[in-house]
Amino acid sequence: MSLSSPKPMNSVYFDHNATTQIDSRVLAAMLPWMQLQNGNPTSRHSFGRSARDAIEHARTQVAEACGAYANQVIFTASGTEANNFAIKGMAASRPTSQILCSAIEHPCVTRPALAMQTLGYSSNQIAVDRQGKIDLTQLQNQLKTPTALVSVMLANNETGAVQDLAEIAQLARANGALIHSDAVQALGKVAVNFSELGLHAMSVSSHKIHGPQGAAALILDKRIDIQPLLHGGGQEKGLRSGTENIAAIVGFGLACELAVSNLGDYQARTQALRTQLEQGLSALNLNIFADKTARLSNTSFFAVQDIEGETLVMALDRQGYAVASGSACSSDSTEPSHVLLAMGVAPDIARGAVRVSFSAHNTAAQVADFLAVFTNQISKLKQLSAMAA
Ligand code: PLP
Repeated sequence: MSLSSPKPMNSVYFDHNATTQIDSRVLAAMLPWMQLQNGNPTSRHSFGRSARDAIEHARTQVAEACGAYANQVIFTASGTEANNFAIKGMAASRPTSQILCSAIEHPCVTRPALAMQTLGYSSNQIAVDRQGKIDLTQLQNQLKTPTALVSVMLANNETGAVQDLAEIAQLARANGALIHSDAVQALGKVAVNFSELGLHAMSVSSHKIHGPQGAAALILDKRIDIQPLLHGGGQEKGLRSGTENIAAIVGFGLACELAVSNLGDYQARTQALRTQLEQGLSALNLNIFADKTARLSNTSFFAVQDIEGETLVMALDRQGYAVASGSACSSDSTEPSHVLLAMGVAPDIARGAVRVSFSAHNTAAQVADFLAVFTNQISKLKQLSAMAA
């Protein structure tokens, strides 16, 4: 049996909200932890101690990138795990009551909230407006019901819309609820400051910021109670047992440091690419979502009428461009994006949605070529559907 290998990078990759290529400096920092004999960080001998030191250094790097203290960083294996830990663990420390999540959360927030219903919690959604922003008046009303936890993402993975999270956190706290935010898409793309946002917990993930897959963190205000998700040897202060993935954590730490130090440059470059893209698309008369609110600079989410997003994604892939339709993390589903439906977009428009998400490594020439290919593919697909009609 032969092993399959990663796709060679001869295609143009415009799907950085799904995952990013690992930075070569990050890979170089990780390799010694994969190649050389290294100890278990819980061991007392020198091998164990050096592994522990590497983890603690990464913890400081992650904390600094997030505006938090090192002792607030709990390493997990994925953003999904951090979100499950937050929702299940924080709600379980409170009397059974309401869990409120925004209607545009990633399934790794909404599904654990729904799972808590079996323990007697109720799970309700906070509506968003047509730009994908939380309706603060509705939130205020919903908070009249006793609430264990509010969870609202800082930036949306599909539209890139950025929430007024400090205001949302204030409302939650004023009504006695805990407040968690999924900042997986925000870190490295906008300034993220856990303390200034006034959060009790926040999730971040390495592979969205040119770090390796397999490392993420829940940033946690240690003054609150949280139930562990994994019980065992007591790692991560007893909150997340399991031998740490040292190489991935080391890579995550450096990726955080690099992402934050490059933030200004990243925003300028990706914003220019997005403007170029959207100016080019304007000739095609498309719906661009969340374009009248604060958005991640790298993200453009738009829909072509009468063409399935999925069909367009496959056609563009054949032409050498990797883009996403709806959310790549739940691409097994052919349902229209729940984010767009929550924003009041009609299902037949939402079905045509395509997301382009840049990194600072993409170029203006790639965008110009893409626009030509995109326009051409659209006219071909429209001709095909006219013939089939
Ligand atoms: N939250 C958001 C907003 C995401 O976009 C994703 C992944 O796309 C996740 C959470 C899950 O993170 P991970 O892939 O690290 O499990």
